[in-house]
Amino acid sequence: MGSLVYVDNNATTSIAPEVLEAMLPYLTERYGNPSSLYRFGGSVHADMEQARGHVAELIGASDTEIVFTSCGTESDTTAVLSALATASDKRHIVTTAVEHPAIIGLCEYLETAGYTVTYLPVDEQGRLDLEQLSDAISDQTAIVSIMHANNETGVIFPLDEIAAIVKQRGCLLHTDAVQSVGKLPLDLRNMPVDFLSLSGHKLHAPKGVGALYIRKNTPYKPLLMGGHQERNLRAGTENVASIVGLGRAAQLASAHMEDEQTRVRGLRDRLQEGLIAACPDTRVNGADAPRLPNTLHISFGYIEGESITLLLDELGICVSTGSACSTGSLEISHVIDAMQVPPMYAHGSIRFSLSRYNTDAEVDYILEQVPPMIARLREMSPYGHE
Ligand code: PLP
Repeated sequence: MGSLVYVDNNATTSIAPEVLEAMLPYLTERYGNPSSLYRFGGSVHADMEQARGHVAELIGASDTEIVFTSCGTESDTTAVLSALATASDKRHIVTTAVEHPAIIGLCEYLETAGYTVTYLPVDEQGRLDLEQLSDAISDQTAIVSIMHANNETGVIFPLDEIAAIVKQRGCLLHTDAVQSVGKLPLDLRNMPVDFLSLSGHKLHAPKGVGALYIRKNTPYKPLLMGGHQERNLRAGTENVASIVGLGRAAQLASAHMEDEQTRVRGLRDRLQEGLIAACPDTRVNGADAPRLPNTLHISFGYIEGESITLLLDELGICVSTGSACSTGSLEISHVIDAMQVPPMYAHGSIRFSLSRYNTDAEVDYILEQVPPMIARLREMSPYGHE
């Protein structure tokens, strides 16, 4: 192959060439501050508003419901802290055991500050029990924060059913849709979600830009206070070039949605079937649940995911280990742990996550390289696999 085979798109994506092209003028000659009164700044403001419209359109929102942020983590934090600030008598949060660290870490911090948090469990396919969700909500609950699609396994939670339950219980709902926006169609006009987080670098826009959807009339308190940017909803001079890039990326995501659902899904399925057929003692995590079309979380029994990742790196194939919390750690990820994947499999987990730029030839290359590598690693395995 020779060149890089990048199949780690849930970690981050490449900037689409069209996005870069749209951004460049704002990094060079169009550097005005969008808050300035003169036209050199004002015209930049108008372009930012156009980008807001494109982001709103991608998720079925109104322009005034979109606030630009610095990243998905900021959007998540803003939503949860806003709910706690606007309902200061309520000190309980409902979330799940498989959220991204952006939510889990925040909730763990809030527990040390005296809040109580319910972490809903998932079954072995990564699915939630919606009855448990309903039971967990009380009149003390300030917000329910449940992700739309899981970054590790790609498992999709039924957001419409979740929204119906949370609304019926009269509670605010935030969803971390960082992994689903741009990959799945979303229409918030028909789904009573109060807050939704998205992040530019997961949909071929740059890193360092995100957005928070805040449904009209939702009680809200900004995280960043000071300047009057973003209609007083988020202070700080806007990252104009990246916001324009996010707007262009949102347009492209709409145009590519069909390709994601068909061609990218086809590549993922072929990769999955090929690996399962060629490698005994292998399982796909979340295979029986609805999943993102681009994600394959696979566990090869009796070996370490880190060894596979490092050997694949030597071949120019970029994947994430689907098991370790962080590089160098042999701990099982909280997601895989929550799904009760047996340890002999959990440690040998890899996440492949594809994008519109992956090709059939790349899948062929992976299918050619991985099975013999797995066989070799198993021969050396300390776990005593026959
Ligand atoms: N939420 C989910 C589900 C994610 O996958 C990520 C990034 O990996 C984040 C939040 C954080 O987004 P950001 O890197 O923009 O802060």
